[in-house]
Amino acid sequence: MKIGFIGLGNMGAPMAANLVAAGHSVTGFDLAAPCPDGVAAAESAVSAAADADVVITMLPNGAILRAVAKEVVPAMTEGAVLLDCSTVDVESARAVAAQAKDTGLGFLDAPVSGGTGGATAGTLTFMVGGHEDAFAKAAPLFEIMGQKAVHCGAAGNGQAAKICNNMILGVTMIATCEAFALADKLGLSREAMFDVVSTSSGYSWSMNAYCPAPGVGPQSPADNDYQPGFAAGLMLKDLRLSQQAAEAVDADTPMGARATALYTEFAETEGQAEMDFSAMLPRFEKRGREN
Ligand code: NAD
Repeated sequence: MKIGFIGLGNMGAPMAANLVAAGHSVTGFDLAAPCPDGVAAAESAVSAAADADVVITMLPNGAILRAVAKEVVPAMTEGAVLLDCSTVDVESARAVAAQAKDTGLGFLDAPVSGGTGGATAGTLTFMVGGHEDAFAKAAPLFEIMGQKAVHCGAAGNGQAAKICNNMILGVTMIATCEAFALADKLGLSREAMFDVVSTSSGYSWSMNAYCPAPGVGPQSPADNDYQPGFAAGLMLKDLRLSQQAAEAVDADTPMGARATALYTEFAETEGQAEMDFSAMLPRFEKRGREN
């Protein structure tokens, strides 16, 4: 397949490299980042997109996606698919889907989970919204870049799935961290806390697979001075998207709202955006009820 790849940052570069390694012809464009080996460098987003069967975008946010789509959609070949793997707001995904449909193109919103490790290893999970014909066309690419692609329904539903998942993740990570800090003050060892909770009803991915306490449970960013992993600033981005979506559809999300407020404080007021999002544990450790 001829693939155009726009946005070759931390995630896009290894994803594009995996497509090249699988034998696809990839032409890339990024405003700043270099093209990885094997990806032909285009001079503009339009020239990366022009004769591609599938154009993949991996960009920072919805405003940038809309701007890039405005340029590339008119230049794309009829019947081609625009496959956006960025995490953006549901509204932007649906707006770009409508624009693509009007021009006879397919569109999929396919945000990922798995981070830069998953992008490099080709083990991402894709949550996909859009028409099933476009999904079928992109399926072989999902297989190369990931281990699983879930078709979630119409355009925008991939983003909806992603932000709902990450809202749960933000909330459970905070709950896990505050419970560890409480257990410390109650004199419970972290090992005992992990052994009980990871096999009891308080278990979650945050506790069992990504334990925020160093030296306890499986290897996680906590064992590496909370270097990300998944940075607190990226968690905050996703939580804000969840609250933007909740406002748009009048959904009551009190825990999501509280998690957003806590990660805003942590990432922005306290300047910890570059730390892993599980570094909430040392934050709670140092605090009391009044602070
Ligand atoms: P990044 O900042 O490393 O990469 C984004 C790239 O887009 C940059 O290289 C930038 O130069 C480029 N870019 C910006 N505007 C552009 C334009 N107009 N034309 C061409 N290129 C442009 O970010 P990332 O970590 O690769 O994340 C990309 C997306 O994936 C984001 O939406 C993010 O939320 C999502 N995501 C990231 C992770 C992660 O762990 N990093 C995990 C899941 C999802």
